Amino acid sequence: MKNNSSFVSELIQTIKSVTGDAPAALHEPLFNGNELAYTRECIESGYVSSVGAFVNRFEVELAETVGAKFAVATMNGTSALHLTLLAVGVKTGDEVICPALTFVATANAISYCGASPLFVDVNAADLGINYEKIDDFLSSNTEMRHGGLFNKATGCRISAIMPMHTFGHSANLQEIVIVAGKYNLPVIEDAAEALGSTYQNHHVGTRGLFGVFSFNGNKIVTTGGGGAVVTNDEVLAKKIKHLSTTAKIPHNWKIEHDEVGYNYRMPNINAALGCAQLEQLPNFVAAKRNLFNKYDKALVNVEEISFFRELPDRHSNYWLQTIVIGEKYQSELSSIIESAQEVGLQLRPAWTPLHQLTPFMQCPRTDLSVTENMAKRIINIPSSAILGLNP
Ligand SMILES: *Cc1c(COP(=O)(O)O)cnc(C)c1O
Repeated sequence: MKNNSSFVSELIQTIKSVTGDAPAALHEPLFNGNELAYTRECIESGYVSSVGAFVNRFEVELAETVGAKFAVATMNGTSALHLTLLAVGVKTGDEVICPALTFVATANAISYCGASPLFVDVNAADLGINYEKIDDFLSSNTEMRHGGLFNKATGCRISAIMPMHTFGHSANLQEIVIVAGKYNLPVIEDAAEALGSTYQNHHVGTRGLFGVFSFNGNKIVTTGGGGAVVTNDEVLAKKIKHLSTTAKIPHNWKIEHDEVGYNYRMPNINAALGCAQLEQLPNFVAAKRNLFNKYDKALVNVEEISFFRELPDRHSNYWLQTIVIGEKYQSELSSIIESAQEVGLQLRPAWTPLHQLTPFMQCPRTDLSVTENMAKRIINIPSSAILGLNP
C-alpha cells in the first residue's frame, strides 16, 4: 500500500505529464482570432458603451449558437441571473430552489430579489441538482394555495427552480423540467459554465424558460466581463432587455422610464471581443475535449481517484477538468493543492457549499450529504484550451 505522500506526488506528476513543464493556470483565455480586429473596429466606430452594432451582433450570434430565439447581453452572468428572477416575478420573502454546490452568484442573485435560496442536494454522477430530492421535498413539505406553492415550514412562497450545469456538465434537465411542471414552477438554467454543452442534443440553457451564460475571463468564451440571458419567449426577452437598459422607453430624444430598471447592459467593446471569441467556440470545445482525453489516459494509472466524465446522453464542453479523490485520501486535498502550487500547477477545490457560508447558513435546505461529501473530494485541474490544442 502506498503512503499518502507518494499518492500526492504520483498524482501531481501525472497531471504534469499532460500539462508539460511550463506553469499551468487553472483556466486562461485564448485570443487566437479576430479579437484585436473587432475591438479596434469598435473603438474606431466611437461606440464603445451600451449602444452599438457589436452588442446586437453578439446577441444574434449567441442565440444562433445555442438554438434559442432570443438573447439579451448583460454586463455579467450575475446580473443576467438577477434579471431572469425579476422577470418570472420572484419577490421579497420568496424561496428559490437551487443547488448548494454552485458558485455564490447563483444564490446572490436570488438574494438581490429579497428571496432566499432553498438548497437541494446534487447527484454524484453529474454534480447537478437531484430532481428526486426536489420532488420529495415539494411533495411532502409544500401546499398549493391561492397565489402559488408554499413551504409549510417557513410559510414562504416557492417561486422558481434554478439548476446549474457544473463545470460544463449538464444537469438532468429532462427530469428537472418534469418535476418543475408538476408544481408549476419556472426553470431558470444557470448555464454560466456550460456554453458549448448539450443535453439530448439540445444546447443547455434552452430547456428551461431561461438560460443564463457568463463570459467572465475564466469562462470558455470571454467578453472580459459579461453575461447573457437566452429564451424562446419574445415577451420575456423584451422585458429582460427593458430592465437591463434602465427601463427607458425607446424614443428619439425624450428620457422617460416606466419602472425601476437596471444599468446591466453589456458594453459594445465587450461584445466586440465576444463576437471574436464566439467564432472560436467549436475549437475551444474540441481542444477541451482533447485535453480531457489526454488526462483520462494518464490518470487511469492513478489509484484512488476518478476522473469526472460526461454521461451518455450529454455532450460536455469540459470547461473545468475535474478529479474526485477517493475517500481514503480525501484528507490530502489541501496538501495536493499546495504541493501542486510549488511546481507551478494551479489546482482548485470545489466551492465551499453555500449553506456553509455566513450569508446562507440559515437558508432552508434538504439533506445535503452528497454535496458535503463531494465538496471534500473534488479538485479542478488546469483546463485552458491551449493545453488541448495539440494532439
Ligand atoms: C461564473 C458563474 C456565474 C456568473 O458569474 P459572473 O462573474 O457574474 O459573470 C454564475 N453562476 C455560476 C455557476 C458561475 O460559474
